[in-house]
Amino acid sequence: MDNPFVIDEEQRAILATVRRFVDEVVAPVAAELDRRDEPAACFSWDIVEKADAAGIRTMTLAEEHGGIGAGSLTTAMVIEELAKGDMGVAVVMAQTLKLAQILQTATSEDQRRRYLPKFRDDPRAVLAIGITEPETASNYFVPHRVPDAPFHTRAEKTDGGWKINGMKHFISNGNVASLYLLFAQTEKGKGLAEGATCFLVPRDTPGFTIGRVHDKMGERLANNAELIFQDCFVPDEDVVGAVGNGFQVLVDFFPASNAYAAATVLGVAVAAYERAVEWAKTRNQGGKLLIEHDGIATDLAECHMLLDVARTYIHRAAWAADNRELGWDPTFGSLPKVFASQAAWKIVTCCSEIHGGSGFMRDIGYEKLIRDAAAFLHSDGVNRTLLLKAAKHMF
Ligand SMILES: Cc1cc2nc3c(=O)[nH]c(=O)nc-3n(C[C@H](O)[C@H](O)[C@H](O)COP(=O)(O)OP(=O)(O)OC[C@H]3O[C@@H](n4cnc5c(N)ncnc54)[C@H](O)[C@@H]3O)c2cc1C
Repeated sequence: MDNPFVIDEEQRAILATVRRFVDEVVAPVAAELDRRDEPAACFSWDIVEKADAAGIRTMTLAEEHGGIGAGSLTTAMVIEELAKGDMGVAVVMAQTLKLAQILQTATSEDQRRRYLPKFRDDPRAVLAIGITEPETASNYFVPHRVPDAPFHTRAEKTDGGWKINGMKHFISNGNVASLYLLFAQTEKGKGLAEGATCFLVPRDTPGFTIGRVHDKMGERLANNAELIFQDCFVPDEDVVGAVGNGFQVLVDFFPASNAYAAATVLGVAVAAYERAVEWAKTRNQGGKLLIEHDGIATDLAECHMLLDVARTYIHRAAWAADNRELGWDPTFGSLPKVFASQAAWKIVTCCSEIHGGSGFMRDIGYEKLIRDAAAFLHSDGVNRTLLLKAAKHMF
C-alpha cells in the first residue's frame, strides 16, 4: 500500500526514482561493501556519483540553486527509502541533504554565492557537520548552559579571521566531505550554548587534516572520522550566523534533523519486517506456514504497528519543521529518533528470531540489519540524552 502521507504526484515520482536507485545501485553491493575490513574501503564513490545522477544528492537545493527544493517531509521519505537498501548510504545522503538545506538558509548571500555552485556541480560533493569532541558530546545535545561544559576546540580571533585548534571525532562523512559546518568555542568562561560559533570550513583549508577513520560495528557504508585543526585559519566571511551564537544556527535551521535520523533507522526496521513477513509466508512448521501460527502473526502485527507509529511521528515532525509558523513543538527535535530507534531495535531482533536459526546466519542478512539498527541507539544523541533534552523543553 502506498504511504498515505504521499500527498502528490511529485513525491510519488521521487520515491519511485529512489526505489530504482536502491534496487539497481545499492542493494547489489551493500553486503559486500559492509564486509570489507578496512573502514574507508566500505565507502563507495560510485554510489555517491549515481545518487547525484539520479538527482538525489542535490534534491534539497531550491530550484534557483539547481535542485528540486524537496521539503523536509519528502526528504524524510527519501531517507527511509534509501535506508531500506542500506543504512550507511542513507546516512551519507541524509547528512548531505540536511546540510544543503542549512547552506541555503543559515548562510549569507556571499556564502551562498561562493559555496552552493561548487556543491551543486561536483557529483562527489558530500557534506559533514563537526560538533562532537572526545570531551564534549551529550553536553551539546542537552545543552548545558554552564562554563564547565564548553567545546575544547577553540577559535581565537586574529587578523581578518579565526585561528582554530582542536579536534572533533565520530563525524559522519568526516573523511569524504568537501565542506564542513564546524562548531568551536570562541568565548572562554562561557558554556557552549553562549560562547560557541559556527564556521564553514572547506576540506582543503590549510591546518585542517583528517585523523582516524573509525572502525564501526555497523552502518559501515558511511564513514566516520576525526577532524584535526592545527592553527587552521578561517576568514571572518566564513562565520555562519553571529559570533558566540553558533548554537542558534542549530536551533533555527536544524528542525528536521532528528526526523531524518529517525527515518534512517526506520528504513532498516522496514527492511527487517518485510523479510520476516516473506519468510513467515513460506516457512512451514507444525504442518502449517509460520504466518498461520498466532504467536508469529501477532508479533508481525506488533512490528507493523510500531513501524506505522514511528513513521507517523517522523512525518508529523518533518512537516512541522517546514511549517513552524503553524506551531512548533520543540520535542519534535529529539523524540522521534528516540521512538524510532527503540522500535527498530525491537523489530530487527524480533524479525531475526522469526527466522529461527537462519536469522543467526550471516548470509540471511539480519546480522547486518541488527548492527545497522544499533547505530542510532548511539548516534544523533543517545536516547537518554534526547529524553533529557525534551524534558527540559517540557518542564
Ligand atoms: C555512528 C555515529 C555517527 C555520528 N555522527 C556524528 C556527526 O556527524 N557529527 C557529530 O558532531 N557527531 C556525530 N556523532 C556523535 C554522537 O552524536 C555522540 O556520540 C553522541 O551524542 C554520544 O556522545 P558520547 O559518545 O560522547 O557519549 P557521552 O556524552 O559521554 O554519554 C555517555 C552516556 O552518558 C549519558 N549521559 C550524558 N550526559 C548525561 C546527563 N546529563 N544525564 C544522564 N545521562 C547522561 C548518555 O546518555 C550516554 O548514555 C556520531 C556518533 C556515532 C556513533
